[in-house]
Amino acid sequence: MSEKEINRKVVILGSGPAGLTAAIYASRAQLEPLVIDGPQPGGQLTITTDVENYPGFSKGIMGPEMMNEFRAQAERFGTEILNVWIDKVDLSERPFKLYGKESAESEEISTIIKAETLIISTGASAKWLGVPGEEPVPEGLGGNGVSACATCDGFFFRGKPVVIVGGGDTAMEEAMFLTRFASKVTLMHRRDSFRASKIMQERVFNNEKIEIMWNTGIREILGTKEEGVTGVKIFNTQSNEESLFPTQGVFVAIGHKPNTDLFKGVLEMDETGYLKTEGRTMKTNVEGVFACGDAQDSYYRQAVTAAGTGCMAAIDAERFLVEHGEAVKNTETNW
Ligand code: NDP
Repeated sequence: MSEKEINRKVVILGSGPAGLTAAIYASRAQLEPLVIDGPQPGGQLTITTDVENYPGFSKGIMGPEMMNEFRAQAERFGTEILNVWIDKVDLSERPFKLYGKESAESEEISTIIKAETLIISTGASAKWLGVPGEEPVPEGLGGNGVSACATCDGFFFRGKPVVIVGGGDTAMEEAMFLTRFASKVTLMHRRDSFRASKIMQERVFNNEKIEIMWNTGIREILGTKEEGVTGVKIFNTQSNEESLFPTQGVFVAIGHKPNTDLFKGVLEMDETGYLKTEGRTMKTNVEGVFACGDAQDSYYRQAVTAAGTGCMAAIDAERFLVEHGEAVKNTETNW
């Protein structure tokens, strides 16, 4: 089979808030960007229910609906969105090459995309426990009482008891956040000490609404479609003794993994795989390659901050093309 070849000035890999904001900016700068959908078109917000903290939506908006709006806005200005599975990339020289397959399972490369600039917005994925009951609805209770984002979903647990799992800074921060809404927060950790920073641990220890259960693992999340979560089957990680613990919400805070494996050994990353960007810009260590959103941000990880860095990456890409004589300088009002 002969491969289809596509040539673009700006290629954006990933279609969450960062990638689609970059696309809105790049298309309004008449750069005709190509957005490549990842395995989860629309990104992590497509697995969230109501989004109530994104400015501009005073009544809130459903995550998938918001991402449809982002998409329509990008397409309105001429963004093309392509659904291919990128199998490998060659960033050794410009134009950069991205090799796409029909799906992850396909054997053959079907599309070669040549990009003068590349914006990486591949996001991050929450790590999950991998226990029964955790799967997204309709199969499990994910999104119906089980969440990996307290900032997004904590509000829905007003007056209810919740469990949070993890022992790092995210678990501490989210446990504290959840005390604003929940009647009680039980923090379950698989060991007898936290890896979180001392100051965060102190805050948790001093908060009367948080109860800590050491050496505790979750074996199963229990509940029904109608009632949501009703409890968890827990076990003692030392004795393996099992018991049932009633709760109405389970927050998993055991870390995130940036989706950056494609770029290992080519782009500079920190020790956990987040792409490094230069100073206040979105430039990576390869000229003409930019990174934005959760693929380069382990700290804020919000839809609105991802969108902000997507805008920055598009402006950086446009300026790079202008400097290289490959685009006409944009006027401020065009953005
Ligand atoms: P971490 O990797 O630091 O912590 C993950 C926690 O989850 C660990 O306690 C780990 O246990 C536990 N865990 C991992 N896998 C499992 C599993 N399968 N079952 C049960 N428990 C599990 O991730 P974080 O998201 O907490 O933090 C990521 C980075 O972001 C860190 O560098 C952190 O400092 C930073 N951060 C900083 C914040 C701040 O400064 N305000 C806020 C949030 C994050 P164990 O300890 O046994 O390995």
